[in-house]
Formats: sequence, structure tokens, C-alpha cells
Amino acid sequence: MDLGLNGKWALVCAASKGLGKGCAAALVREGVNVVITARGAEALEATAAELRALKGGEVRTVAGDITTAEGRAAALAACPQVDILINNAGGPPPGDFREWDRDVWFKALDANMLTPIELMKATVDAMAARGFGRVVNITSGSVKAPIGVLGLSNGARSGLTGFVAGLARSSITARGVTINGLLPGAFATDRLRTTMRAGAAKAGQDPDAALKAREQAIPARRFGTAEEFGAVCAFICSVHAAYMTGQNVLLDGGAYPGTF
Ligand code: NAD
Repeated sequence: MDLGLNGKWALVCAASKGLGKGCAAALVREGVNVVITARGAEALEATAAELRALKGGEVRTVAGDITTAEGRAAALAACPQVDILINNAGGPPPGDFREWDRDVWFKALDANMLTPIELMKATVDAMAARGFGRVVNITSGSVKAPIGVLGLSNGARSGLTGFVAGLARSSITARGVTINGLLPGAFATDRLRTTMRAGAAKAGQDPDAALKAREQAIPARRFGTAEEFGAVCAFICSVHAAYMTGQNVLLDGGAYPGTF
């Protein structure tokens, strides 16, 4: 299927590893030119080299923290026009809400709610003026089914999801701009491995056995891959998904137990 994206420009945030990288790779394969960001220049350049080897769209890099005004300005400046915006950043740490003060909350809100909103604010009107735009917000399955220890994530990402539910049904909708959430369940990325191994070690469990048990608890009996995540992201960005907006698409191998 031709996704109809050849020659478009995408800003893919937090994309040197994991899900962001999976999205960038899928878009580059479709001939999309991408600007990828991450805090560490070394991993970012290594990823850019991998993406360039795909021989698809052009790949530009911007090293910086996307949760800061300077990081966002640099990322936007490197992209001639943003036809596609993939919002992503690191997730907040687990913990007990009794230990979180306002600063901890604002850090989570900045990363997982206000940064995507700032980037949409900077891009969606120009997308609408050109008659085409796609925003995919990488959030979490925790938006549908909260995860106890991830209260910061549950809260900040639900705030973003609620805001987007309104924006995705506003005047930009009739002008070719869609905004959707892509909700990862458990994907085999650095973050998942590090978080799970640390949790297992803290609980006195064998990390490998804990990872295996977690996989077995998923109906698909495995973690998802960044490639699978990227492929769905690219489809949501495609011309074929023009009638799909304001949706929250869960990719979790069947882990969420509800009918809807
Ligand atoms: P990852 O650790 O594998 O990759 C994160 C990427 O983001 C890296 O490239 C890192 O350099 C970059 N990054 C982090 N903070 C940044 C910042 N402030 N500015 C710029 N770049 C930044 O993580 P992942 O598993 O791909 O997760 C991506 C997002 O999806 C996270 O918010 C995570 O909480 C969420 N998520 C992941 C899973 C999963 O199973 N992997 C499940 C639910 C939610």
C-alpha cells in the first residue's frame, strides 16, 4: 500500500531509541524526510546513520531536550515545514504520590502534556493552511487502564488526551489535520527492560524470570516491537487515515481486558 507520504516532512521527537525510532524508520521507508531529536548526540547520530541506510527520505538530527523551550525551538527550526508531528519524550518515574511535590509533578506535566501541546500550538495552524497535517501523540496504555505506580504518567498523559479530544474536533479538522494518540502496552525497548529489571531487583526477583512472566501474562505471549509500533504510526499518518481523528489506538497484544 502506498501511504502517500513521499516528500512530506516529519518532526519525530525523542527518536534515538525505542518507539520514536520505530516511527522514524517507518516514515523514512515511506520517503518522508525526518528531523529526529534526542538528548544525547552520540546515540542520535548512530540512529541517523541507520535511518539513512534505509535510503528513503532525508534525515536531520537535533540534539536537545524536547521538554525545554530551546529544545523545541531548535527542533522546529530544523524542519522546513512540519507535515507530520510525532510527539514523544521519556516517561516519568514510578513512585508513590505521597512523595511527589509540585516540582516533580511539573516535570511530568512538562514532558508528557505541555511539550506536546506547545509543539501542536507551533504547527497545526500551518498544517491546516496547507490542507494536510498529522499529529501522533505517543502516550501509554495507562491512559485507558491506569498503572498504580505510574501515577505521574497516568495523570499527565490523561491531561494531554483530554485536551487533544477537543482540539482534534475543532476548526482544523475540516482542513486536513488529524490528531490521534498511539498507546503502547509493553514494547521491548530500553525503557521497558530497565524499568522491569529495576522493579524485579527491588522485589528480590530474578529479572529474566520477571520479564518472561510479564510476557506470558500478555495474550500475545510476547512484547511488541518498535517496528510494529512504527508501522501503525505510519499508517495513521497516511493519506488513507484522513477520516480518523481524536482516536486513542491501543497496541498491547491484547493485554487490556475490556471490550472497548
Ligand atoms: P526508550 O527509553 O527506549 O527511548 C526513549 C527515547 O526518548 C530515547 O531516544 C531518548 O534519548 C529520548 N528522550 C527521552 N527524554 C527526552 C527528552 N526530554 N528530550 C529528547 N529526547 C528524549 O523509551 P520507549 O520505550 O521508546 O518509550 C517512549 C515513550 O513511550 C515513553 O514516554 C514511555 O514512557 C512510553 N511508553 C513506553 C512503553 C514501552 O513498553 N516501551 C509502554 C508505555 C509507554
